[in-house]
Amino acid sequence: MSHTRKRLVMGNWKMHGSLAANAALLEGLVAGATRAGDAQLAVCVPFPYLAQARDALAGTPVSWGAQDVSVHAQGAYTGEVAPAMLADFGCAWTLCGHSERRAMHGESSALVAAKAASALAAGLTPVVCVGETLDDRDAGQVECVIGDQLDPVLALGTQALARMVIAYEPVWAIGTGRTATPEQAQAVHAFIRASLTRSGAGQTRILYGGSVKPANAASLFAQPDIDGALVGGASLVADEFLDIAAAAA
Ligand code: PGA
Repeated sequence: MSHTRKRLVMGNWKMHGSLAANAALLEGLVAGATRAGDAQLAVCVPFPYLAQARDALAGTPVSWGAQDVSVHAQGAYTGEVAPAMLADFGCAWTLCGHSERRAMHGESSALVAAKAASALAAGLTPVVCVGETLDDRDAGQVECVIGDQLDPVLALGTQALARMVIAYEPVWAIGTGRTATPEQAQAVHAFIRASLTRSGAGQTRILYGGSVKPANAASLFAQPDIDGALVGGASLVADEFLDIAAAAA
C-alpha cells in the first residue's frame, strides 16, 4: 500500500563533525541519495557547517537545515541565530524543541511554539520535536505530556500546522539503542494525528525519532501514521543513513 504523505528522512548530526568528516559524509549521502526513492532526504548540521552543507548539497536532492533557531528576529541576543539569517542563506529546515534543548536549555513548550512561528515567518520549515520521558511513560502520562507540548503549537492554527513537520521522539529512546516498538510509536503518532486533524492539519507529516537504525526502520515506516524518521547516531554514517532512507523509499 502506498503511503499518501511524502516520507522524510532527516539526520540530526547534533554536536558532531569537522570539515573533513562532514565532507566525506556529505559526499557519501549525495552519491547514494537515489536510494531514498520518492522519500525526501535532509540533514540538520551544526551552525558553523551550514555553509559547507549548502555548498556540498547545492543541486542535489539532499536538503539541509539547522538544529535550533532564535525566537527573536534580530537584536541584542548574543550567540543566537535569527530565522531570517538561516533563510538568507538558503536554509530549508530548523529543528525546534529537540528534547536536548528542552532538558538542557530549559526550553518551554510555549517558547518552542514561538520559535516554530518565527521560523515559519522567515520561510523556514520547522520540525517541532515532542516526546515523553521514561518516568512520564511509567506513570501513564504519555498523552498528557505530549498533549501539553503540542497545545501551544496547535494554537498557531491550521495554516501554520500545514507548513511544519512534527517529530515524536520519546526521550528514553534517544541515543539509548532502545527504540520504541512500532506499536508504541504508532499509538503516539495516532494520538498526534488526531490532534492535528482536529486542528485541520491531518496531513502534516509526523516523524519518529529515537534509535532509528537500518534494522528497525522498515517496521517503523510500515506504521500508517509514521511519515519518516529523525535520525541521530545513525545519520553520522552515510551507509547507515542511506539504509534507513532506502527503507522509506
Ligand atoms: P538517536 O537520536 O537516533 O541517536 O537516538 C535521535 C534524535 O535525538 O534526534
